[in-house]
Amino acid sequence: ARKKTPARRAKPENDAAPRLTSPGKIVFPGIRATKQDVADYYQAVMDHVLPEIAGRPLSVIRCPNGSEKPCFFQKHHTAGLEAVSFARLKEEAGNNANYLVVEDAAGLMELVQFNALELHPWGARADTPDLADRVVFDLDPGPGVRFAEVKGAAVHVRKLLRQLELDSFLRTTGGKGLHVVVPLDPGCEWDLVKRFAHGFADALAKSEPLRFVAVSTLKLRNRKIFVDYLRNGRGATAVASYSLRARPGAPVALPLAWSELSKLRKADAFTMRDVPARLKRRRKDPWQGIETVKQDLSRWSSED
Ligand code: ATP
Ligand code: MN
Ligand code: MN
Repeated sequence: ARKKTPARRAKPENDAAPRLTSPGKIVFPGIRATKQDVADYYQAVMDHVLPEIAGRPLSVIRCPNGSEKPCFFQKHHTAGLEAVSFARLKEEAGNNANYLVVEDAAGLMELVQFNALELHPWGARADTPDLADRVVFDLDPGPGVRFAEVKGAAVHVRKLLRQLELDSFLRTTGGKGLHVVVPLDPGCEWDLVKRFAHGFADALAKSEPLRFVAVSTLKLRNRKIFVDYLRNGRGATAVASYSLRARPGAPVALPLAWSELSKLRKADAFTMRDVPARLKRRRKDPWQGIETVKQDLSRWSSED
């Protein structure tokens, strides 16, 4: 990983707000939220979101004309970015490219200035891009699946992981499904992570074929939950905890304690408007300790 020399700034370190152009532009028409509201949101959750993205290759979804107009996925560093750093990484085709890496609040706020709404980090750090430290089980309900079933699926996945002596953490996506996240320390080669995640999803679908499916084919997913293991490869991303989603109502991907799952009504229950207050209210970070969990997949490397 390489870091750009930080731009010299006259303002004090903790004032991470660069110039914001078009602050009054409407970004979420349904709730009349502006670009300034987006900046205020990310400032308000900065201490929570930064640890989830800092030092990782990061893709962003940018919506120059608001969340309801065309948006695009960006993973590479581009001209004009000064506070955002980058890591030069090998791509699948064999070439090298500069991947976005946010190191601090100024970097994130610069992405906001560039109309980024969603944050999607790798499950690996930029200085060890070949070692996964987060496995994500992305539970995607097919058509006709009630949210209660998605919740049940998450509980089931957690239980199976438990049997493998793996602790897992829960988050809403702000979309339709849930993510079950497994931290790894030491990190693990992507090949093994992929094999593990695929094997896990296959086993789940075989043992409960009415409930789970492990192939992405749309028509096989009717009334079933797709265990999207494809999130677990080098270069794949998952939405960051505390990221906004570019969807109506400005939903947020929010970490939850497992004990909070039973009363959750939907995956987009939390929004830009209520998350900051919620964070002030809550007594404890539901993912507290995730950084210190010591577990790996080594016992899996000899199997199948
Ligand atoms: P939902 O709960 O609605 O499924 P999600 O964030 O899990 O929300 P998915 O479509 O399941 O959405 O995608 C999972 C993750 O895969 C995303 O968060 C994103 O990081 C990544 N992803 C999805 N689509 C793309 C894409 N076209 N290009 C790159 N990455 C993608
Ligand atoms: Mn999903
Ligand atoms: Mn998915």
